[in-house]
Amino acid sequence: MEAARLHEYTEEMDQALQIDDVDEPTVSEPTDVIVEVTGAGWCQTDNHIIEGMWTEYVDQTLPMTLGHENAGIVREVGDLVDTVDVGDPVICHPVQTCGVCRPCRLGEDMYCEHSVFNGLTTDGGFAEYLHTSDRATIPLPAGVDPTEIAPHADAGITAYHAAKKAVAELNPGDTAVVIGIGGLGHIGLQCLQAMSAATIVAVDLKQEALELAADLGADETVDSSDEDVADAIASITDEVGAQQVLDFVGRDETTALAPDITAAGGDHHIIGYGGMITEPAQALVNGEFAFRGTLVGQYTELQELVALVDRGDVTLHTDHYSLDEVNTVAERLEHGEIEGRAVIEP
Ligand SMILES: [Zn+2]
Ligand SMILES: [Zn+2]
Repeated sequence: MEAARLHEYTEEMDQALQIDDVDEPTVSEPTDVIVEVTGAGWCQTDNHIIEGMWTEYVDQTLPMTLGHENAGIVREVGDLVDTVDVGDPVICHPVQTCGVCRPCRLGEDMYCEHSVFNGLTTDGGFAEYLHTSDRATIPLPAGVDPTEIAPHADAGITAYHAAKKAVAELNPGDTAVVIGIGGLGHIGLQCLQAMSAATIVAVDLKQEALELAADLGADETVDSSDEDVADAIASITDEVGAQQVLDFVGRDETTALAPDITAAGGDHHIIGYGGMITEPAQALVNGEFAFRGTLVGQYTELQELVALVDRGDVTLHTDHYSLDEVNTVAERLEHGEIEGRAVIEP
């Protein structure tokens, strides 16, 4: 089968991945599931993996097939699999967990001590078939098209995970700020909208992104290309600040907003990444706000997100590409030229 593989870390996105002919994966363990990939979302993290940004944090053996936002149709299952059947449409949690370590027993899939991560530490879904397990596959309700919603496997679940943490702290009358209405941000905004009664403020520097935010139900929009974000949030919140900030950009300029826009006791959630957090310790003491990290989400949270999708509360804006267009997608994303989410159809 054809697979888009990373052979060498590079900054050159036009030659990031190579299309190779590789063996199709087969069932080897009784809990294995083989999925025919109908859609695999392209993620900013793919660009970061290609650049070698993850080598410090995980073991990677190249060449490796990238693609961690996978969905498709089950084609083969091991003897012990009874959660999904051949022919079922599924979405795949990117992490295959062991199920028996303590984090797994607490439901904390992302902290599993024996996990493998498709497209990050083992072969992913930019290929015709994906090797995964029964603990990572979620059957989809009738009417939910796997190809359309593949990006929820990471982009969606990550945005949902952050939104769920934020919603737990948001009361009616509070304000939530969403910074960056891109591939993840537009999902996070809809999750907040579906699950909280807070005032939602969208911040972006692109007009199309702000229009999308307004269409998706943002109460206020702030154009950071010509407005002072801190002043705008102060005026919207009567100088109180936002109780919850979801930062889908994570650059120096956006993390630096935290002391000025976060309400006392609030949280600035880091979802996008690439920049640095450089604040005087005193800023956190004075404002008693917190920076909180966001690492994908739990299997059960992906089930919850699928429920929101099934209700029509969360829709995805996607563009579709063939497998041999992966490097075009990588380049376009690098230049900020992809609105919503790119889905590769292997
Ligand atoms: Zn991703
Ligand atoms: Zn585990």
